[in-house]
Amino acid sequence: MRKSKRKTRKKQHPRWLYPALFGILTVLVAVLIWPNDSQYDVNKVTQSDVPVYEDIQVAPSQVDVHEPKAIAIPPQVIDKKIYQYNALKAHGIALVIDDVGYNLPALRRVLGWGIPVAIAIIPNAPYAKEAAEMAHKTGHVVMLHMPMEPANPHYRERMDDSFLRGDMSEGMVRTMLRHGLEKVPYAQGMNNHMGSFLTSMPEPMAWVMKFCQDYQLFFIDSKTSSKSVASDIAASSGLTWGSRRVFLDNSVKEDDIKQAWLSAERCAKRQGGCIVIGHPHPETLDFLERQMTHVKPKMMRVVTDLLHVPQG
Ligand SMILES: [Zn+2]
Repeated sequence: MRKSKRKTRKKQHPRWLYPALFGILTVLVAVLIWPNDSQYDVNKVTQSDVPVYEDIQVAPSQVDVHEPKAIAIPPQVIDKKIYQYNALKAHGIALVIDDVGYNLPALRRVLGWGIPVAIAIIPNAPYAKEAAEMAHKTGHVVMLHMPMEPANPHYRERMDDSFLRGDMSEGMVRTMLRHGLEKVPYAQGMNNHMGSFLTSMPEPMAWVMKFCQDYQLFFIDSKTSSKSVASDIAASSGLTWGSRRVFLDNSVKEDDIKQAWLSAERCAKRQGGCIVIGHPHPETLDFLERQMTHVKPKMMRVVTDLLHVPQG
């Protein structure tokens, strides 16, 4: 009798077995699902996340996958009035680099040139916040590069949920813009990413300008369509505004970039101020780096110097 009892006990699993197995399983699951920051971010960025262009027909730069962690910068109180509006007196070229937030090493190159460059950041870009912090820390103007609905069906297919669309209500437009600002800290102004459809619509543009006024943002019309009414509505809304005059890299062939730059120089001579938009393509950055070694320093202006200021 005693013998058979002992046998029965032997068949039972030891009491520690289940807690031990549970512990091992928990550790395994934790290792598998625990987010690894750098891998997580990098894996999030696929080729389909890289922005498309309306005016820019070339493929954008590759996303850099060897990105160090974001630099830590303490939050600062933004004084929106730190810049002076000198549009009527200023002459020169103001450079805006669009579509920032995908490639921080490329941005680091731009910020190291020692000239004023406005950094226009796409809110849904994986490194939007880091890019804004880097640009702000180095004294450059930060802009929200707000995605807006394009007209071209090919580009419309690639819209994501960060785009302002023509069928949105004012409340929705404002919510989207607020989300955009949250993702791009330190933004002093805004310009449109794509938007050939939306910028031709007076009502949503009036809502955008009202938002800019409420948040003390300037607006630059990227002019992705000749039908854009954005500048007119910005001006009539009493905003500080500007309009893109030259796209530097519609084609990234060296000679085409050179010709675009020459037309920007002519435009600056003829009209006083010229807002030029480029993109962080290696070809564009190579060209600008070479160009900046022999451009007159006073030729390059802070973008806020070349904006139109409301009268009165
Ligand atoms: Zn863009």
